[in-house]
Amino acid sequence: MKYYSTNGAAPIADLHKAVVKGLAEDRGLYMPEEIKILPKAFFDNIQDMKFQDIAYNVAGAFFGEDVDHDALQDIVYDTLSFDCPVVKVKDNIYSLELFHGPTLAFKDVGARFMARLLQFFIRQEGQHEQVNVLVATSGDTGSAVANGFLGVEGIHVYVLYPKGKVSPIQECQFTTLGKNITAIEVDGVFDDCQALVKSAFMDAELNQHMKLTSANSINVARFLPQAFYYFNAYARIKALGKADNLVMCVPSGNFGNICSALFGHTMGLPIKRFIAANNANDIFYKYLQTGKYEPKASVQTLANAMDVGDPSNFARIINLYSQNNKLTNEATHHRITNLISGATYSDEQIKETMRQCYKDTNYILDPHGACGYQALVDGLQEGEVGVFCETAHPAKFKEKVDDILNIDVEIPDRLAAFMKGEKQSVPMTKDFKDFKDYLMKQ
Ligand SMILES: *Cc1c(COP(=O)(O)O)cnc(C)c1O
Repeated sequence: MKYYSTNGAAPIADLHKAVVKGLAEDRGLYMPEEIKILPKAFFDNIQDMKFQDIAYNVAGAFFGEDVDHDALQDIVYDTLSFDCPVVKVKDNIYSLELFHGPTLAFKDVGARFMARLLQFFIRQEGQHEQVNVLVATSGDTGSAVANGFLGVEGIHVYVLYPKGKVSPIQECQFTTLGKNITAIEVDGVFDDCQALVKSAFMDAELNQHMKLTSANSINVARFLPQAFYYFNAYARIKALGKADNLVMCVPSGNFGNICSALFGHTMGLPIKRFIAANNANDIFYKYLQTGKYEPKASVQTLANAMDVGDPSNFARIINLYSQNNKLTNEATHHRITNLISGATYSDEQIKETMRQCYKDTNYILDPHGACGYQALVDGLQEGEVGVFCETAHPAKFKEKVDDILNIDVEIPDRLAAFMKGEKQSVPMTKDFKDFKDYLMKQ
């Protein structure tokens, strides 16, 4: 499969290049040249298939030309070593729990898939030089990437995080791993970490010294595998005989997760319509209302993984529905609003939703999932069945959830295990020279 850039001014790339580079030369996002429609027989039998086999079929449509069948199956099965259940919350509303992976985050799937795909390419080339992944994190991405790449031969990961600015649980998830994961504790804020990573990619001497790559969330190997979740959700709801008017609701920040769901829809997945649920960062919501996209600085909310003021995957969604810029803005907007509606919630509304849902159903929502649940409560129509993504385990936001619901959320064993490990990190200033000196010695 070949990949083109949403900005239309970069050379076409093969999968290997798209994965290693992440972003195209013109700073556009890579899009597959073709989105294959899956056969009717697949959808007819999907309710009898297990998650891994459904995912293997979907993966084949994207990656089957570039990765041989056995290797792809191995990558998919290894990535999906956990369950992804659909849980009834009330009436016609179901929670798609995306938090049963190693770090209890839905980003685990993309991170692990990317690590294994990169390893496949390294082996295929018989390459002996180590590949180094640099990732800046404000918390969640770092843990998913670090755990996804943990123990993957031939790849070393450097996680840069702002000192004192990530939660203790998050910090444990990438500082206690050891092996091929190095945590770098930067005396600065998240933007300083990101600036260090960007400078490193641009430094010629450093790039001569070591092979560098990023594991950014816009990477095709990270975002496309998230489509697996939606095929699985459809299968589980179909098995209940309730999939005829299915509404999929995705709490969104950078819109990677919902974008993968929309790719699934293009592949033939019978979802009637989508809802993008936002916190107070309502740029996409406003786009749906007005047709104008006006990015702005993000505001901090309770659902902080969705605090995004300029969603990076917006360009992919526009590209998908404009047929690679062939349609006018109006026609594109019309197609998008026909399929996707929006919702936006303040912190007060998120808290109220969490309390009300807990009171009515005993289900514990995290602040991100709460946006998705409420958007279904508010927007589901007669005869529709709604599924919202619960994107994080409530224990990941324990202090907030305990405080809002006045409970003591149980910490799953997997999360508790991280907290027992010994923290190891390399202290670093926010001065690029120091970071470069350190890398030049590795
Ligand atoms: C990353 C994240 C989101 C937002 O996902 P996007 O793909 O950026 O839209 C929502 N909830 C949680 C818990 C996340 O970690």
